[in-house]
Amino acid sequence: MPYKDLIAEVRAQRPDLNVAEVERAYEFAKAAHEGQKRYSGEPYIIHPVEAARILLSLNPDLATVQACLLHDVTEDTDVPLSKIEQEFGSEVASLVEGMEKLAIVKMPNQSQKEEQWKKMFLAMAEDIRIVFIKLSDRLHNMRTLQHVPEEKRERIARESLMVHAAIASRLGIYKIKSELEDLCFRYLHAEAHAELNKKLDQYKHESETQMEAAVAALRDLLMEHGIVPVEVQSRFKHLWSIHKKMEEKDTENLDDIHDLFAVRVILRDKGDEVSHLYAALGVIHGAYIPMQDRFKDYVAVPKPNGYRSLHTTVLGMDKDPDEATEIQIRTETMHKEAEMGLASHWSYKEGVKSGHVDPKRHRDMEAALKKIQALVDREPDLAGITSDWVERYQHLSPEDRAKVEKVLREHGIEQSDLDAVRVARGQEKPRLQQNMDRQLAWLRGLAEHDGSTEIDLFPNKIFVLTPQREVIELPKGATPVDFAYLVHTEVGNKMVHAKANGRIVPLDYELQNGEMMEIGTRNNGKPSRYWISLAKTSSARAKIRNWFNRQDKESNVAAGRALLNKELETYEKPLLDDKYSLLKDYAGKPRDFKDREQLLEGLGLGSVSVAQVVKTLFPGIRTRERRVVEMSAEAATEEVLVTGEPDLPVVLSACCKPRPPMPIIGYVTRGRSIRIHRESCSELAGLEGERFVSARWR
Ligand code: MN
Repeated sequence: MPYKDLIAEVRAQRPDLNVAEVERAYEFAKAAHEGQKRYSGEPYIIHPVEAARILLSLNPDLATVQACLLHDVTEDTDVPLSKIEQEFGSEVASLVEGMEKLAIVKMPNQSQKEEQWKKMFLAMAEDIRIVFIKLSDRLHNMRTLQHVPEEKRERIARESLMVHAAIASRLGIYKIKSELEDLCFRYLHAEAHAELNKKLDQYKHESETQMEAAVAALRDLLMEHGIVPVEVQSRFKHLWSIHKKMEEKDTENLDDIHDLFAVRVILRDKGDEVSHLYAALGVIHGAYIPMQDRFKDYVAVPKPNGYRSLHTTVLGMDKDPDEATEIQIRTETMHKEAEMGLASHWSYKEGVKSGHVDPKRHRDMEAALKKIQALVDREPDLAGITSDWVERYQHLSPEDRAKVEKVLREHGIEQSDLDAVRVARGQEKPRLQQNMDRQLAWLRGLAEHDGSTEIDLFPNKIFVLTPQREVIELPKGATPVDFAYLVHTEVGNKMVHAKANGRIVPLDYELQNGEMMEIGTRNNGKPSRYWISLAKTSSARAKIRNWFNRQDKESNVAAGRALLNKELETYEKPLLDDKYSLLKDYAGKPRDFKDREQLLEGLGLGSVSVAQVVKTLFPGIRTRERRVVEMSAEAATEEVLVTGEPDLPVVLSACCKPRPPMPIIGYVTRGRSIRIHRESCSELAGLEGERFVSARWR
């Protein structure tokens, strides 16, 4: 029973974890998945349990184990996230939510989009623990891929190789990386996999005695010199890396590949001391012939993903004197890190999302600390307990925290000050977690190809999804107009409304990272000139202009005239006459009738903005952002701000009675007023998308 195995492993490997809490998450997940089956026909609960067993080697905290057990609950059952939050707290819920977000991302088909996929994965993985759960989840899914319908296997294997194995590699989690790679190899190149597997088995069989002899010889040699290794082991390269090497060398012959296996010497940990590693190296170099250019000191200079070991290659260990043997020397800790990455010793003491401490909270904390310091200055007796509370907050038991807080309150420190310290402390990270953050940043940096180590590597980009779950990259600030035209010019041209995560949004809505966008189209739909000002991308603007360019000149002039007249009416200016006399000295230059027509055509085409023409005609005119001028009978006490439409009376809709701070949206009615609805109002579904405008509370 995998569950019994999990519990036994928790007890053996992680006695610090609360088994009863692990059990509770298991029971909850089991009940939720009751009756569901995997493709294999097994009860569904086996999957999260097996994933949790894999996860355990990554040294997870309790919240991560619980979230792993619960990771498919919200996705596959009726249980809402709020229920998980209620039962297991917000930390577990946010991890589950993170998994949910990743679950909706499916790899796009075009190969050039793979890099984008990776970026999205990283951009969304705000918390490194979500990446760990995802890797465990994926590894178990790959282990059981033979039960999945055949037509799905290749896509899943390709995705696992391109994304999950690559990420495991970059995080230095070699154990998960190599198992994933070999499983992917098996499904992506079944024949090559089978053939190589056979060859390697043969080779292993032939060289078994040789390898055993090498291991024994090395152990004896070290013991002779007073170095007692924890373990000397031999290890084969995994199949996928041999396959890649053979492809690189363009050979079918296993004998052409050197270093098929390596001997590993694992020595005791001596704190920060590493001199015994070099001592062992010296002994080995004294007994065998080192190949000069093959020595690598990853202890002094670790690999960017944190990998540490001494690597050397020697001649004279093999019965064939020309055959080289690779030897890796490392401590137990280095070995654990090499298998499981830095995660293996990451302290999860406090479950904190990556990201910085919020500056306001930091200021509040500083102010509170000043008050506490002043108190300690007055009452030196309090210094002991107070400094413990301040300096080591995360390490105190809840009882001790409560005790100190009670004393401080009795001495006039307010609860809000205590909270300020507590919240800010809760956001601060242990040192190792900062290392992990750096590693994640480095990982994101690789995905970005610019080597940057900033956490926010995509300050100017957002990633949204199509209904087919393809990733679309857009500049920050992009609107549904940009999205629609990027998907397809015709989708843009025929757009009638846009939805973000299933909710109707105005066309000037700023798209958010990770949102799924849906564009409603109509066959006789056509773009509006107003969209040009909404588009953030030049390609969308060009496409809209193009559409209008294709219209004939006459209608463009008429459209430009109507557009300008509408604007003039808004600002209570006289309208254009038949000769367009208003434009006769436009921008200080005499314009004949043809010039005036051309200007209107430009307006109609969208190459000239109506706002600019009005400003040129009437310098100093007001901006388009206005305060609400009129309220309905049940007017709210707050004011609403709308953008993008001429001055129209604004009323709060009676159907949904919006009140601050509910998110709101405006709708331009046929009676020329702007009606404010709640964003969630059910009436919105039946309305025309083009008439929506942004609105917010002031
Ligand atoms: Mn899963």
